[in-house]
Amino acid sequence: MNQATLRQLIASVADAVIAHAEELTALDQAIGDGDHGLNMKRGFEAVLAEVDRIAALPPADALKAAGMALVMKVGGASGPLYGTLFMGLGKAWPATTDRAGLADALAAAIDAVKARGKSEPGMKTMLDVLAPLLAELRAGADLSKLRATATAAAESTVPMKAIRGRASFLGDRSIGHMDPGARSSSLILHAIADVLEEQRVA
Ligand code: ADP
Ligand code: MG
Repeated sequence: MNQATLRQLIASVADAVIAHAEELTALDQAIGDGDHGLNMKRGFEAVLAEVDRIAALPPADALKAAGMALVMKVGGASGPLYGTLFMGLGKAWPATTDRAGLADALAAAIDAVKARGKSEPGMKTMLDVLAPLLAELRAGADLSKLRATATAAAESTVPMKAIRGRASFLGDRSIGHMDPGARSSSLILHAIADVLEEQRVA
């Protein structure tokens, strides 16, 4: 991956998260404390502020640097968890970025999030988007299938009862709302796909 692409990926993800801050906040107002949009916005603004430095690094180090910025700037549960995800991706980044290598790196990063959050898919969290994306990546899905999977997976958190995070304090009342972290994970996948699709036609 060249430096320009890496820069575009970072900027696309950051812009998407920042542009959807109000939506993420609204989702968190329904079943949490209403800070997910602001948390994510603050974190990705910090990443954007350093985009030149980060994009100049090899991809593995860039992912670790972005993860560090998120851990340091994002309050709440999602900062450490997204930080863990991106740092985990960086640590496991493959020498050759083929599908199997990327899937293995994502699997390692997801395992790190699970360990940090003591969580599993089915608990109404970001893992309910990340885990199906990994499964589809392994199954050979193309970008449009990954997009559809992310959207459907975020939607699938609506009927779930939250078992982790602040939403779990609501018990059954967490049912009927989309998990904010699942939505932000879906947004991130769509922002990555935007860049990769644009490259393909360019
Ligand atoms: P906080 O819950 O501390 O206010 P945020 O609102 O920024 O933090 O993030 C909430 C999101 O974090 C949830 O929607 C969920 O997706 C994710 N989350 C919370 N706890 C966990 C956990 N233990 N494992 C995985 N994801 C979690
Ligand atoms: Mg919150």
